[in-house]
Amino acid sequence: MADKVERLKTLIIGSGPAGYTAAIYASRADLKPVLYTGMEPGGQLTTTTEVDNFPGYPDGVDGPTMMMQLQKQAERFGTEVRIGMATAVDFSDEVGGIHKVTIDDSKVIEAETVIISTGATAKYLGIPSEQKLRGGGVSACAVCDGFFYKGQEVAIVGAGDTAAEEASYLANICKKVTMLVRRDEMRASKAMQHRVNSLDNIEIRYNTEVDTVLGDQVVEGLRMVNNITGEKEDIAITGLFIAIGHKPNTDIFKGQLEMDETGYIITQGKTTKTSKPGVFASGDVQDKEYRQAVTAAGTGCMAALDAERYLATIESHQEVSS
Ligand code: NDP
Repeated sequence: MADKVERLKTLIIGSGPAGYTAAIYASRADLKPVLYTGMEPGGQLTTTTEVDNFPGYPDGVDGPTMMMQLQKQAERFGTEVRIGMATAVDFSDEVGGIHKVTIDDSKVIEAETVIISTGATAKYLGIPSEQKLRGGGVSACAVCDGFFYKGQEVAIVGAGDTAAEEASYLANICKKVTMLVRRDEMRASKAMQHRVNSLDNIEIRYNTEVDTVLGDQVVEGLRMVNNITGEKEDIAITGLFIAIGHKPNTDIFKGQLEMDETGYIITQGKTTKTSKPGVFASGDVQDKEYRQAVTAAGTGCMAALDAERYLATIESHQEVSS
C-alpha cells in the first residue's frame, strides 16, 4: 500500500553503468536525481571479477570496485542513491505529465522524468555444478572473460546469434572451442552459422547438453550428454561460456511501454526516448546486441541529456503559456 508521495525532477531506476552514468550527467545538469539501486546494487558487473575492456583502466579493475567508484562519482554531484526496488509504474501519456513509480510496494515517487536502467539478466542452465563454478571458470560473457582463456580449451553452450558470435570471438583467442547445441540445428542466422562452421578450431556437438561441469574450485572439464542416445563424454576444458540468452528486467513496464517480442524496451531512433514522453531507457534493458559496460554508460549519458532537453522544452512551453 502506498504511504508517502515524493515529487522529483528525475528518477533513475537501476544501478549499473547506465544508471550511474545517467546520474552523473543528470546531477551535473542540476536535475537533482534520485537513483534506486534495485535488488542487485551495481548490476551485472558486480558478478564479474576483472573488467579489462572499460577505457581508462590500463591495469583493469574489478567489477564491484568500478561500480563503487561510479556511485561515488554520481554522489559527488548530488545524486541521492537509495536502496530500493521499483515494484510498479504508472506512466503518463501526456507531454509534461507526472509519472508515478512505486518503490518496495509502499512509497510512491512522482517524477517529471524517469530514466530506466534496469538491465538484463543472463540466463544460466541452473544445474548445481554450473552454479558452484560461476566466477571459477563459468561465465555468461565471452567478450568480458574470454581473454583469461587465451590458448586454452573452452566450451560454449547455446545456438543463437550470441552463442555463434561468442564462439567465433573465443576461437580467435582460444586453442579450441567446443560448442554444445541442444537440437540438431542452430537457431543463429545462416551468416553466423557459416562463420562458426568456417573456423577450424570450433567443434560443434549437436543434440548435446551439459551433464556436469567438472572441477572443485575451478572448471577442469565438462561431462556432456547426447540427448538422443544418452551417451556421456568428458572433455578437458578450463572455461565454460553460457550463451543461452538474456532476460531484460522489464516485467513491471509491461503494458506501459512499447517493447519488442522478447521484452526489450524500444527506443526511438538514435535517442533513448521510449513510447511515453519523459520516460527514457538506457543500457541493456534496451540493447540486446552490444551489451557492454561502456555502451551502457554511453546510453546512460544520452538518457540524461534527453531528459534535460525534455524538461527544458516543457519549461519553455509553460513560460510561453503562463
Ligand atoms: P536466443 O534466444 O536467440 O538463443 C538462445 C539459444 O540458447 C538457443 O539456441 C536455445 O536453443 C539455446 N538454449 C536455451 N536454453 C538452453 C538450455 N537450457 N540448454 C541449452 N541450450 C539452450 O538468444 P541470443 O542471446 O542468441 O539472441 C537474442 C536476440 O539477440 C536474438 O534475436 C538475436 O538474433 C539477437 N542478436 C543479434 C546479434 C547480431 O545481430 N549481431 C548478436 C547477438 C544477438 P534452441 O535453439 O534449441 O531453443
